[in-house]
Amino acid sequence: MTTKRIFKAKRVANSDVSGWLDDHAVVVEDGVITAVEPSANVASGGDSHEVHDLGDVSLLPGLVDAHSHMHCSATHDAQTLAMTENDQQLTIRATSNMRKAVLAGTTTIRDLGSRNEVAFAVRQMIEDGHVPGPRLLLAGTPITITAGHCWFFGTEADTETQVRTAIRTQVKLGANVIKVMATGGMFTPTANPRTPQYSVEVLKAAVEEAHRMNVPIVTHTLSAQGVRNVVEAGVDQLIHARWYHSDPNQGLDYTPDTVKQMVDQGQWVDPTIGHHLLGIEAKARGEIGPMDPHWAVSYKVVPEAEHVDTLNKMHDAGVRFTTGLDMGMTYGTHDRSAANAWALVETLGWANWKAINASTAGTAEALGLTKQIGSLQTGMFADMAAFSGDPAQNIRDMDRASTVVQSGRILKLNDTVLV
Ligand SMILES: [Zn+2]
Repeated sequence: MTTKRIFKAKRVANSDVSGWLDDHAVVVEDGVITAVEPSANVASGGDSHEVHDLGDVSLLPGLVDAHSHMHCSATHDAQTLAMTENDQQLTIRATSNMRKAVLAGTTTIRDLGSRNEVAFAVRQMIEDGHVPGPRLLLAGTPITITAGHCWFFGTEADTETQVRTAIRTQVKLGANVIKVMATGGMFTPTANPRTPQYSVEVLKAAVEEAHRMNVPIVTHTLSAQGVRNVVEAGVDQLIHARWYHSDPNQGLDYTPDTVKQMVDQGQWVDPTIGHHLLGIEAKARGEIGPMDPHWAVSYKVVPEAEHVDTLNKMHDAGVRFTTGLDMGMTYGTHDRSAANAWALVETLGWANWKAINASTAGTAEALGLTKQIGSLQTGMFADMAAFSGDPAQNIRDMDRASTVVQSGRILKLNDTVLV
């Protein structure tokens, strides 16, 4: 029997997520959108279908987040917990985090680094309907060098052969994407964020291997030489794309030619500035910071404005940005993917609709899911998030959805959680 549900709202995002349709209704049958039309055209409830009039809300496609760590705690001691908790503890934490994420309105997440034993099991249980959670694209464990960035997630690979084997293993386990740690990172005391972890030759082999198995490859990249290496190797997307100079006594080392090549190759960047924004606000409230300054970056503190300047230059040059919060890192709670859009507006100066589009249709495109999610059109999965207020006027109105629908199933209705 067909299940038909109709969701009416004062404001419904138009098909290209660039403006509102006033007083419209989204018609959903068996989890798929079958029509978007003026509310006046649809009949009121009856035996054959349910009608939910959400009232004065803004109905958007469910948010899409390109960067999570499902089992990380987002607390000041996230690093210690990630290194010491066992798989059972991490699985429960991940289950809770994914529930929070979807109930906040993020209906699709790409997880870019969690233990294999946790990530694939949690996705299976969500897909089987045992626990609520977003659609998940998974990298499983990131691939890193011995003692490298996030080594404690479980996959260390140093040589070209080991990297190829690691990629094959991840795909065999069910990975939809490969994550390689191209430089060290702040989260790992033994990894140097300013220097590359892999040579261009090894990165090229990784790209070849991932593409041979028909999965995209994205790289954590915090330093200028790391960025240059992954651009030359032709990876699909860059995460962070920061430009730290390899000399800890110097600041940034931005190279416009590399960015031009990035644009020519269509490489997306996840600027992770939503996470930065949440960190700055948490520190302003007096909360404990994530950790002491990293030994490899602390010689010269680079002001946030300099990073913002390089991000603006990249964007102006034509690089497209995904919305990835780096969920699970300190301050990056799994229910705050909307902070990506806040930061695009408040930090980078984007128009509200451009930021809303990036958080939905844009990132869906980056994830290769344009035909399934990211907009409210006939034929798409009925993944929706309603927000009170109007994010086109005030971007912070987009925060923790009041109603969440996933594949037509109502998870939360007018602030009442149903799952
Ligand atoms: Zn991350």
